[in-house]
Amino acid sequence: MVNAQAASTTTRSEPPAWQRALADAIRDPRELLDTLALPHTLLDGARTGAALFPLRVPRGYAARMRRGDPDDPLLRQVLPVAAEARSTPGFVDDPVGDLDVVRPGGILHKYRGRALIVATGACAVNCRYCFRRAFPYSEHQAAPHQWREALDTLRGDPSIEEVILSGGDPLSLSDRRLAALAEGLAGIGRVRRLRVHTRLPVVLPERVDDGLLDWLAGTRLAPVMVIHANHPAELDGDVAAALARLRENGVTLLNQTVLLRGVNDAVATLAALSERLFEQGVMPYYLHLLDPVRGAGHFDVDEREAAGLMRGLADRLPGYLVPRLVREVPGRSAKTHIAWDTAPP
Ligand SMILES: *Cc1c(COP(=O)(O)O)cnc(C)c1O
Ligand code: SF4
Repeated sequence: MVNAQAASTTTRSEPPAWQRALADAIRDPRELLDTLALPHTLLDGARTGAALFPLRVPRGYAARMRRGDPDDPLLRQVLPVAAEARSTPGFVDDPVGDLDVVRPGGILHKYRGRALIVATGACAVNCRYCFRRAFPYSEHQAAPHQWREALDTLRGDPSIEEVILSGGDPLSLSDRRLAALAEGLAGIGRVRRLRVHTRLPVVLPERVDDGLLDWLAGTRLAPVMVIHANHPAELDGDVAAALARLRENGVTLLNQTVLLRGVNDAVATLAALSERLFEQGVMPYYLHLLDPVRGAGHFDVDEREAAGLMRGLADRLPGYLVPRLVREVPGRSAKTHIAWDTAPP
């Protein structure tokens, strides 16, 4: 009896597997290079970039990269480089004007009917092109206030029908905290949909476990998850299994991609991404032009080239697998759709 009790106590206090994987992420540039059999000539640049925005890569994500290839499209998304210290005209710390609209409790309310909660600043992976890489999370995130302030702000605005959990990555928070938030949101009568913007099912598929599905499928709110995949090689068998579980539990799955130089700026890559997403039960939603955040200029693909890529996609894919090409323009009431279906100039 004593032993059985001790065993069950241990089980209860042990963190879930995904939290261990999260804590075990690679943070040292030298370790990442060694893991991938890459030369130490890349180390100086990696340290320069990492001093501006730390390196962070889950081991399972690194395992999907090609060894020995410094141009691997997954590696390019996470390996800090010296170019991040270069300034590019128009590339700034708050490219989408978040700080002009942030409200108490970490709420960003830009679009009618939808409010976004900056739930946490933490992420499982640090994407080098992240538009919030310089966001002052410590001043504007909801979590430290135990959701009370965020829920108060939302209750005070009867126009809101959909709440979007964002960050950082909201799924880097524990299920206990997220369940409490979902419960609070379900208690606000006019809210109908709960949307989660997350990269975790892609970079750390272990995150999709019973604890997550319990609160996400258990709420009265209609659950929508917008994942973030940029390249078909990100979508391996473990990711497919995680996505299948979400679908089986009634979660509507969409994907957003950021168009990135040297990662996915080719028609064949984007087409393969859409096709693999569909095979894994996810509909392509947005293809975002890069937000001009300081340090990410080397990823930029201009509008004209992006339009050409879209025409190439539309030539090959059924219409429902062609994502919407958008850009976030500060001060507008919706994402700005970029026209691409006119004859090339
Ligand atoms: C992108 C975004 C949304 C969601 O926009 P949709 O077009 O509905 O996907 C909501 N709020 C903010 C602040 C956003 O940046
Ligand atoms: S997961 Fe999203 S929020 Fe986090 S670093 Fe990547 S792009 Fe930024």
